[in-house]
Amino acid sequence: MQFLKAILDLVFPPKCEICNSLGPDLFCKKCFAQISYLKPSTFVHSIGIYENALKKAIKKFKYGKKTELAKPLGEIMARYIQSNLGRQFIDFFVPVPLYHKRYHERGFNQSELLSHQISIMMGIPTVIGLLYRLRETIPQFDLPKKDRFKNVKGAFAVTAPSFVENRKIALIDDIYTTGSTISECTKVLREAGAQEVHIITLSRAM
Ligand SMILES: [Zn+2]
Repeated sequence: MQFLKAILDLVFPPKCEICNSLGPDLFCKKCFAQISYLKPSTFVHSIGIYENALKKAIKKFKYGKKTELAKPLGEIMARYIQSNLGRQFIDFFVPVPLYHKRYHERGFNQSELLSHQISIMMGIPTVIGLLYRLRETIPQFDLPKKDRFKNVKGAFAVTAPSFVENRKIALIDDIYTTGSTISECTKVLREAGAQEVHIITLSRAM
């Protein structure tokens, strides 16, 4: 295996997926240094601005299907949560679900992959299937602001309310755009009896 890896490294030298510089990191230190971190707030935590290297990384991860990027990106999130929120405020993570049609088109849910990686690093579970997307919604980016809340209203449901009751939940998503998707998710979790709902997104569109 060692030998095979050495051959593979020669043919396909390991490189940064974002800037293509050669090296062992999928998301290199130079790209890492480009992240503009945002100040933590009480319930909404967006790690960095959706621009430069972070934007490229998310696009490559989500649309370029480079799912290996979930590891470095999830690690950035885990480190941020450890130092700004603290594990005592979270019983488990819930990734924002995709509508099943979108999930099958893409082949994965980016938020789910990020959440799994955060779970591995923090030792706090990710619960899949607890939050369910009932219908397809138009990507929020394509809508005028006034239509965004209507677009996602009633689009989510909690499948097992007893599991949510009195729990401290952290919702995980890749981008915070207008906040209407994530606030709709927060609303249904609160209605199901969640004690606290924290929102953690990798980036925030400005
Ligand atoms: Zn790089």
